[in-house]
Amino acid sequence: MHTFEFIQPADSAEAMAVAAHAKTAQQGADVRFVAGGTTLLDLMKLNVETPARVIDINRLPLDKIEATPDGGLKIGATVRNSDLANHPTVQRDYAVLSQALLAGASAQLRNMATTAGNLLQRTRCVYFRDTAMPCNKREPGTGCPAITGSNRTLAILGTSEHCIATNPSDMCVAMAALEATIHVQGPNGVRAIPFEDFHLLPGSTPNRETVLEPGDLITHVTLPPPIIGSSQLYLKLRDRASYEFALASAAVVINVTAEKVTRARIAIGGVGTKPWRSLEAEAVLVGQPANEANFRKAGEAAMRGAKPQSENEFKIKLAKLCLAHALKTATRG
Ligand SMILES: Cc1cc2nc3c(=O)[nH]c(=O)nc-3n(C[C@H](O)[C@H](O)[C@H](O)COP(=O)(O)OP(=O)(O)OC[C@H]3O[C@@H](n4cnc5c(N)ncnc54)[C@H](O)[C@@H]3O)c2cc1C
Ligand code: SF4
Repeated sequence: MHTFEFIQPADSAEAMAVAAHAKTAQQGADVRFVAGGTTLLDLMKLNVETPARVIDINRLPLDKIEATPDGGLKIGATVRNSDLANHPTVQRDYAVLSQALLAGASAQLRNMATTAGNLLQRTRCVYFRDTAMPCNKREPGTGCPAITGSNRTLAILGTSEHCIATNPSDMCVAMAALEATIHVQGPNGVRAIPFEDFHLLPGSTPNRETVLEPGDLITHVTLPPPIIGSSQLYLKLRDRASYEFALASAAVVINVTAEKVTRARIAIGGVGTKPWRSLEAEAVLVGQPANEANFRKAGEAAMRGAKPQSENEFKIKLAKLCLAHALKTATRG
């Protein structure tokens, strides 16, 4: 691993001030915050990330889970994934989030991994992680070998001719369905970013993955008040039962009254270049009977526009079945 300066700031203002000198907050950043380190240190060992300065944010007071005045939940940036998954309010009111977190990584990793770190985890595309290979996300303009190469686990929604990398997070799929908001403190003040606006599609700049700018520190995430009477479920399909990323997953938050769907929030994982909220699937369901035929239609709608590559066409059927099964299981009385 290359050498770097390790900085332990006294407060958020100092952390931001140091980070504000970075040339970018995206791929190739010369200054990086470190939280659990389970993404960043891996990539530094591989020389995919080579920051000159690493700012440790673990001592900042960003590790609380608190109720918000409007009845929602405020989750600090450095709250560990295990603490969030096992928090009684999350288990009771935001079960889909608890389930998604517990479906990720391993118990040891969840004890280290943080809320903000999980939001910013990087793709597992093998070419991205191998500096001997070209990769537009790592080195813009070098090409995307995955499109004609090893792409079994890569994305079928939101892709471009420049990148087809999957966003690997489970937590983010649940947060998309829960309509979370990401709160950032930066050199120009604080801002609240709706979840769907935080991650970017690859387009012609796959090296740019989020709207973050130099100096931006994620301070917390908020969830709106719980949806009364909703059934929630996270279903993850993968090659093996643990320690594996999703091939397809579905986060479902659904209300059914008199056997009709009155409200649905749906996101899917393992198939998109960003955590994928499916407004199409939601539109198919709302106002319709909560039955298997309609759950299958929702799966079809969610996959409309999917663009498979040589090895990952199977994901279309898998994701349809995953969503239909998640809806069926969530609404089973
Ligand atoms: C073997 C393995 C298996 C895994 N399996 C899964 C899985 O199945 N599902 C899944 O969802 N995830 C999985 N993960 C990913 C894991 O969840 C992430 O690595 C973890 O959530 C990252 O959190 P962290 O705190 O360790 O991040 P770090 O590594 O500390 O940081 C990650 C990035 O976020 C930035 N950052 C951190 N905090 C802030 C902040 N407050 N503001 C701005 N930037 C910040 C850092 O600069 C860095 O760029 C796996 C990881 C490993 C190593
Ligand atoms: S899919 Fe994206 S991350 Fe993977 S090689 Fe292509 S450009 Fe790089």
